[in-house]
This record gives sequence, C-alpha cells and structure tokens, in this order.
Amino acid sequence: IVEAVALEKRFGDHQVLHGVSLAVQRGEVVVIIGPSGSGKSTFLRCCNGLEVAEKGSLRLCGQMLMQQGELLEENALNLLRRQVGMVFQSFNLFPHLRILDNVAIGPHKILKQSRHYAETRARELLEKVGLLHKADSMPNSLSGGQKQRIAIARALALQPEVMLFDEPTSALDPELTGEVLQVMKQLAQEGMTMIIVTHEMSFAREVADRLIVMEEGRIVEQGATADIFRHPSHPRTRALLQPVL
Ligand code: ATP
Ligand code: MG
Repeated sequence: IVEAVALEKRFGDHQVLHGVSLAVQRGEVVVIIGPSGSGKSTFLRCCNGLEVAEKGSLRLCGQMLMQQGELLEENALNLLRRQVGMVFQSFNLFPHLRILDNVAIGPHKILKQSRHYAETRARELLEKVGLLHKADSMPNSLSGGQKQRIAIARALALQPEVMLFDEPTSALDPELTGEVLQVMKQLAQEGMTMIIVTHEMSFAREVADRLIVMEEGRIVEQGATADIFRHPSHPRTRALLQPVL
C-alpha cells in the first residue's frame, strides 16, 4: 500500500535520507525507531507528500505520489492524501470547535458527507476512542491524552487507507501515554495499516509486525519484530532495545 524506493532527501547540503526503501503491505503495522535526526519524521512526511524526495519514488495505494523530485499534480495529490491519516506529536485540534465538530468537520467539508451523517459517524468514532462523553466539550478542557485520542478519531473520520503516527505519545505525561497506545493497539487489531514512529519499545514489541531501525538517513536493520527483539544485529538496534531486553 506504501512503496518507497531509494528515497533521497536533502535540506541544503545536509542529506537526511540516503536511499530509503520500504514497502508496507495492507494491514501491516510497521514501527520505525531510530535516534533523533535519523530521518524518521522526514520519511513519514514523504509518505503523504508533505516533503518531496529529490530522488527515488513513492507509490501510495497504487498511485505514484512522487518520483525523482516530481510530486503528483495538485488535484490528484489532494485526493490521494485523503487516503493517509496523520497523527503528530502535537494534536492541532481546532481550538474554537467543540470535540464533536473537530471530528465531523473534515468529513462534512472534504468528503461532502451531510452534517447529520458526519456527526453520527463522529459519535461512533468518539465512542471508539472512549470519549463520547466529551462530544460537546471544547478542546482546551481535555488532557493531552484525551486530545491525542480525539486527533486519532479525527484522522479516522476521513476513512484513510493508512495511518501514519509520528511520536504520538512523546508530548504526553507517562500516565497518559497508555490510553493513547491502547487506542492504537485496538486499531492495529482491527487491521488498519499503520506506520508508527515511536520510542515506546514495549508497545512496538506487542503491536508491530515489523520493526525498522533508522540511523543517519538509512535503514540499518529491519525484520519481524519478534526476530529483532530476539537477535538485534546492528549495534544501534541493540542500544535502542537495551532498556526492554
Ligand atoms: P526526532 O527523533 O528528533 O524526531 P527524526 O528522526 O524524526 O528525529 P527528522 O525530523 O526527519 O529526524 O530530521 C532529520 C534531519 O533533517 C535533522 O538533522 C533535521 O535537523 C533535518 N531537518 C528536518 N526538517 C528540516 C527542514 N525543514 N529544514 C532543514 N533541516 C531539516
Ligand atoms: Mg521526528
């Protein structure tokens, strides 16, 4: 469903991706780990066309999103982007809209769903993330963990084919990360295709089908999660997994 081939990306004279290739199948849960600055976020941002790699290509849902520095033309790009839900470290909820509207506005405006249908769906999604009782609250009255669960519900409301998560819990207090990881785990069990950048190694071990280790813009190790936890071969992987081995 995502097929990146030999992506190269530089910012000025700093090369951030050095030939990153990664194919993710429908229904797969892939976790990317790696030290700060290794290019994890840049890679995720390429997956929805927020960054363009100057070399290599990236296919999404069977369509060429970017190739040799060329991005798909705007109309097709906007259609294709809808297939990708993204959840960031910061939640970026609309502060002036109540929770229900935060979730329902995208489907109403973008997918042209009727307001009634979009709100019904939004209530279902709020229930799924355990926050139906907050439907009429405003975002600033929620905890960080609750805001992030709303951000997930909002992304799901657009019915994406694949969900990208960039350190969704790293801005949260430790006692709030569990509720967000629980929602993500449930999504994984329901068969959602997910690419997740996280430092939560126990979560990765439990939920990821495949683990990808990045260092300095390269994938230095990858494989089935259980295998990598059993036999981490790259020194970087060992260092990252050390706390949970
Ligand atoms: P972290 O774990 O800290 O989030 P990361 O693996 O996500 O790190 P990236 O955010 O992809 O790393 O950044 C990789 C490198 O690219 C870093 O050295 C960063 O400073 C640089 N970089 C990222 N975005 C830009 C930008 N817009 N302009 C210039 N340099 C950038
Ligand atoms: Mg990052």
